[in-house]
Amino acid sequence: MTSTTPAPSLTAPHRTPRRRRAPVVLVLVLAGIGLALAGPTGLAARVVRAVGGAPAAQAVLDGPLAPCRADDILALHREPADWARTLLDPTFRLEPDDLPSDLVPVAEAGLRGGGSVRLLVIDDLRSLAAAAREDGVTLRVRSAFRSYDDQIRTFASLEALNGRDWAELSAARAGHSEHQLGTTLDFDGGNDWLAANAWRHGFVVSYPAARSPQFTCYKAEPWHVRHVGRGVARRVHESGVSLREWLWIHADEVP
Ligand SMILES: [Zn+2]
Repeated sequence: MTSTTPAPSLTAPHRTPRRRRAPVVLVLVLAGIGLALAGPTGLAARVVRAVGGAPAAQAVLDGPLAPCRADDILALHREPADWARTLLDPTFRLEPDDLPSDLVPVAEAGLRGGGSVRLLVIDDLRSLAAAAREDGVTLRVRSAFRSYDDQIRTFASLEALNGRDWAELSAARAGHSEHQLGTTLDFDGGNDWLAANAWRHGFVVSYPAARSPQFTCYKAEPWHVRHVGRGVARRVHESGVSLREWLWIHADEVP
């Protein structure tokens, strides 16, 4: 009974200052984490990217365009601000929780069909839809943003239908899909119009017939467009190569 009584009196003088210091240390640690997460450039950003596995991606991208290969290396530019230069293919992927936080319905752009895209896509998407309408072309959205879990289901249904090899040429495995970026749409109708005009409004057809599947790693998808902004879209269009090939070389030039 008596053995427990001295303990508080012995430890109290030492413990009290520790309790007082603890919140200060916690604040400093939280501030450090906040700085590391906040900065899009500089040392803080490099630390975040290193944690994200970017060195592995950089090593691959430092070489020439690699043959299409199924792997699970984290993409080099995964931050929401880097939406236009994130290179996704069967090798490079996003994390399941790499999610845009600014999704809005495609109806905001005056389009029919379902789904959501990032708010930053809406102005160019509205412009694309209006220009198509003026040319007598009706675009309807079949699919837009898809989460990691959505893509698991999409891929599984294709695999069940025609087997693994066919599915891997026809759709991205979860984490590898441009639809997870929130900047990508599949349209019903208007494929020829999109091939000729999407770039004028800041979109690229990611898997054009002329470069697919050899360079894009997927079968041609004339309905699948990704927003990269008008400057990049023009440069990709004028280059004549696919977005995968272009980003492999030029991703660091994208603002
Ligand atoms: Zn698609």
